[in-house]
Amino acid sequence: MIDFGYTLNPSSRINLDNFDRNKFEKLSKSEPDVLLCIGCGSCTASCTAGKYTDTSLRKAILSILDCNEKAAVDFAASCLLCGKCTLVCPRSINTRNLLLSITKIYGKKQ
Ligand code: SF4
Ligand code: SF4
Repeated sequence: MIDFGYTLNPSSRINLDNFDRNKFEKLSKSEPDVLLCIGCGSCTASCTAGKYTDTSLRKAILSILDCNEKAAVDFAASCLLCGKCTLVCPRSINTRNLLLSITKIYGKKQ
């Protein structure tokens, strides 16, 4: 294969057939705050566990919307429930409850 000195990024196409509407409705019913997130990243930047793990509420929410439930659960898994992200969220999202609900709803084996 010819080396052009660059590579193409993998496709970022989202396969909506993989989007589990029932689970998202369950999540948004128990935590309507999930609909308020603007993806600003303040929660991730201030995360206590983020320094040592992949914990990120922002990435967990985006993974759900990207139909990647496993990644969402992984991003929520190491949360220490310290609540720092709640203090900095510009949308006043109840981040801890949301993280717990993501783990509860998407972590379940079907
Ligand atoms: S700080 Fe709040 S609005 Fe910003 S990405 Fe985190 S949850 Fe979303
Ligand atoms: S509650 Fe969890 S996600 Fe939020 S700052 Fe603490 S460890 Fe990070």
